[in-house]
Amino acid sequence: MAYAIAIDGPAGAGKSTIAKLLAAKMNYIYVDTGAMYRAMAVYFSQNNVNPQDETAINKAVENVDITIEYMEGVQQVILNGENVTHLLRTEETGKMASLTSKYGAVRTKLVDLQRKLAKTTDVIMDGRDIGTTVLPDAFVKIFLTASSDARAKRRFDELSAKGEECDYEVIKADIEKRDYDDSHREISPLKQADDAVLVDTSDMNIEQVVAAITAIIEDKKQNLQ
Ligand code: C5P
Repeated sequence: MAYAIAIDGPAGAGKSTIAKLLAAKMNYIYVDTGAMYRAMAVYFSQNNVNPQDETAINKAVENVDITIEYMEGVQQVILNGENVTHLLRTEETGKMASLTSKYGAVRTKLVDLQRKLAKTTDVIMDGRDIGTTVLPDAFVKIFLTASSDARAKRRFDELSAKGEECDYEVIKADIEKRDYDDSHREISPLKQADDAVLVDTSDMNIEQVVAAITAIIEDKKQNLQ
């Protein structure tokens, strides 16, 4: 049986950083589901599909083929035969992903792919609906969060370190808007699963979060013995 660890939580809580470190430590495959919604968004942007027009989105989804490959352990997203991984982490793509992830056609296609990946391999999968919808039987579920102030500060520091101009209040407002949209959509809203363990990282560093989640996983294994 393949083991799955689900990590859900709002934007900027540190899910991908933590999931990558845990996957390397445990020798699991890291599956970044946000990257799949972002790849879908790249297709919509490249083909001028209006994110407000559900009929157009439904039609466009039929022409999208997304697959996942691993290159030296790093997830690559292939969109209709082209590796689009380098296009995924822009603000514009993030916004388009957030606007279009609410549609049933988009979610059904990507959830199918996510479940297929988890069937045969041990995975650490992060996203918004992994514990609630994608892998309801995951071995361990973590809901990783932090205050919007802490998340905005991390993002501000990250952009400033890269020498990018940014405004703390704009970043915070953007994070809060995404939280609102992700947790108020009709299909698979962002929500802590009943059996997920809440980890609030507002006052924790990366090492402390990895240690806390490792302890939760070890504890679960002990309880099974
Ligand atoms: O996590 P990331 O910022 O890459 O996700 C981009 C967008 O994709 C999110 O704002 C969210 O709307 C959507 N998403 C989702 N379900 C997931 C992962 C991401 O709806 N499992």
